[in-house]
Amino acid sequence: MKAVAVFPGKPNSIHLADLPEPKLDDVPYRRGVLVKVLRVGVDGTDKEINDAEYGDAPEGYDFLVTGHESFGRVLEVGENVRDLQPGDYVVATVRRPGNSIYDRIGTYDLTTDETYYERGINLLHGYLTERYVDDPEYIIKVPAALKEVGVLLEPTSVAEKGIEQAYEIQRRLKVWRPQRAAVVGAGTLGLLATLILRLRGLEVTTLARTEPPTLNSELVEALGARYVSTRRKPLKEAAREYGPFDIIFEATGASIVAFESMELLGKNGVLVLTGISGGDSMVEIPGDHIMLGFVLGNKVAVGSVNANRTHFERGVQDMALAEAYHPGWPARLLTHPVKGLEGYEEMIRLLTEEKNAVKVFVEVNAHV
Ligand code: BGC
Ligand code: ZN
Repeated sequence: MKAVAVFPGKPNSIHLADLPEPKLDDVPYRRGVLVKVLRVGVDGTDKEINDAEYGDAPEGYDFLVTGHESFGRVLEVGENVRDLQPGDYVVATVRRPGNSIYDRIGTYDLTTDETYYERGINLLHGYLTERYVDDPEYIIKVPAALKEVGVLLEPTSVAEKGIEQAYEIQRRLKVWRPQRAAVVGAGTLGLLATLILRLRGLEVTTLARTEPPTLNSELVEALGARYVSTRRKPLKEAAREYGPFDIIFEATGASIVAFESMELLGKNGVLVLTGISGGDSMVEIPGDHIMLGFVLGNKVAVGSVNANRTHFERGVQDMALAEAYHPGWPARLLTHPVKGLEGYEEMIRLLTEEKNAVKVFVEVNAHV
């Protein structure tokens, strides 16, 4: 069976590998779910894995199959699987449990283990292949009405988790009625966070460098949110004009943005950091101002990574709501399809060079 893989540690080693056919019995207790992969989305993480910045091969392999944003259709289930059946559309989660207490209660997205297991990212093969098998614990059903946009659910789950964390933390305030939010970054994650916050009824300002009009700015405005180019109006000015922000969702991965956001966060506000800053840049910040503001303003900053199945389930609900309020909006994010697993070079090229791409994804199998 074909699969797109890299040799971890070797830059630009993406290639077509041969993977043994998965079998229902690969999962114990007759709980296997065999899934035919339909589409797989790719993002900066895949690019960085191909650049050999991280990612390790599973035990017994010298390659790692990439792809963590999956969408597929169930082919066959083991006899102890209750809630899924052949023909169901599904997405799979990314992380698999380790050993910490958080892993043991099903919240493996909050693991404290040093080594973490993520399909398509670290130590486990991903979904850029023809079929995969897994336990139903990691597989979420998607209604057929969402089959065109189901491939967006993994990044949606990451945004859902970040926002859920913010609301959970704010229960400390006994009453929290957030009104204004800022989302910094208007890539896939920033756009999805804008959607979710709008669906929660907040006034949202989404900031990114690029000057409008772009597809990204149009997508923000189509949700009734405000798009601001930080070239025209820096974050600080935007906060003065459209703040104070009760919640800031950072989705850029630029560490300077994290500290600027700390400075501009409203009183009792919460800052959610989700961008992954792979580098080691040094930044200069107004440390005293930030610290004073945090203490006198009772502010919180939280980091958030990955997601567990509850966030995928919330993602399915919000995707359905999105189609109800903004028909066709989610599909507009799917800008750059790549035909077949053989298209892996084009996939990397689009990820690296195509500045107008919102979501690059591989059409592994035609929809059935
Ligand atoms: C993925 C997450 C993952 C994170 C860190 C992101 O690209 O979407 O699921 O936890 O990378 O590996
Ligand atoms: Zn990702």
